[in-house]
Amino acid sequence: MEEQLIIEIDRMPREGLRLERDLDFFTPDLVEESAVFLEPTHVEVFVRLVGDEVYVQGELSTRLSLVCSRCLAPFEFPVRSRFDLVYLPEDLAPAGEGLGDDDIDRMFYRERRLDLRELVLEQLNLTFPAKPLCSPACEGLCAVCGELIRDGRCSCLVKETGPRFEKLKILVRDKT
Ligand SMILES: [Zn+2]
Ligand SMILES: [Zn+2]
Repeated sequence: MEEQLIIEIDRMPREGLRLERDLDFFTPDLVEESAVFLEPTHVEVFVRLVGDEVYVQGELSTRLSLVCSRCLAPFEFPVRSRFDLVYLPEDLAPAGEGLGDDDIDRMFYRERRLDLRELVLEQLNLTFPAKPLCSPACEGLCAVCGELIRDGRCSCLVKETGPRFEKLKILVRDKT
């Protein structure tokens, strides 16, 4: 069962609120569709209210399995991310479009509540690379034999090396 983590702004203790939780999220909630959680997401947050502004500082950590965008092999992706956020009441949100550059990092809470699960999920989604790689040096799969290329070689390149294959290798690399 998913644990709710809603902060009621008007019930916040004066000295702030310190929380530590292990949260379970599900892959469909993630921007990275191939991700699989290897452990729950550990979250430590300190929430405090200053006037009507809610300050949320914290750290999240977890381990995921992602699929390499070049060689398609799953690999372990550890996440450790700190965040330092300010939420303002919704009625201070600028009406309509045309947000200035200053507004980019400002966030808003609605109905005097802040959903910490949602906040953590947003922060988690920010940690994913656009193209996950098992290693920066991953050379991907050979378009001819389908095998993993290591040190510029796969099984067909071991047998036969020639200008034709060199060219192919470059083509494959450019695609990724
Ligand atoms: Zn790879
Ligand atoms: Zn090959």
